[in-house]
Amino acid sequence: MSVLFGMELSASASALHTYVVNHFGHPIHEEVEHGWSRDRKGRSQVRPDGVPVITINAATGRTEDNVEHELHHLYLRTEGFPFLGVQGGNEITKQFLGNLFCSIEHSIFFPEMRAQGFDLDIMLRNDCQEAHAENGCLSGFDLYQRAAWYFSVVLETEDENLKQSIDQWFEENDTEALARGRRMVDARFRKGQSLSAADAVQALVECSNICFEPTFTFQLADWRYSKRGNHNQHIAIIAVHQH
Ligand SMILES: [Zn+2]
Repeated sequence: MSVLFGMELSASASALHTYVVNHFGHPIHEEVEHGWSRDRKGRSQVRPDGVPVITINAATGRTEDNVEHELHHLYLRTEGFPFLGVQGGNEITKQFLGNLFCSIEHSIFFPEMRAQGFDLDIMLRNDCQEAHAENGCLSGFDLYQRAAWYFSVVLETEDENLKQSIDQWFEENDTEALARGRRMVDARFRKGQSLSAADAVQALVECSNICFEPTFTFQLADWRYSKRGNHNQHIAIIAVHQH
């Protein structure tokens, strides 16, 4: 069995780990971060020299599901899932693109993690309870943030009760954000459960256009490649236009 961050991984996580290490040709570099907020649990990257890196939050990230989660993100890199290169727009649209693409990746591998017995809805249920509270984050969000929030949570959960309570909050508080969020979820799932890298980027562009209409439009402008050690990193260039 593979060991990461001092934890022995399950058989399926070990297989994933071995695959990733063979692809990159380097062991995974382990980093522990002490300065992150508690809700940020982990991150994965590929260094310019091709070394894959997983960083975990010292306070909240040393769990099997978090490490396996980051292994799945690295696995998607091996399948040609890109980094995003964003042209135009602003810091907000850039951050949105990153977050939405992360959620789309989650919608690909969460079913697999659920099949292995991880309860991925515990955290989502807590987040939603806080978000729905009177002074929760949703109350301060604008239309775009609310639509994107809806998209992420509904994409990632399989808890029907949770979905219902989210719909109810939006029906009472923001039907426009609900309509956009639903169209975004539809656009993602029209392409099927498991996506190729190209489909995932296409879904990202469609969802971003729905979220931000009519203020910003998004377009896939180019695919680029950069050699990182053994790894051929794909980069999707997304052009953002403000109207
Ligand atoms: Zn993730």
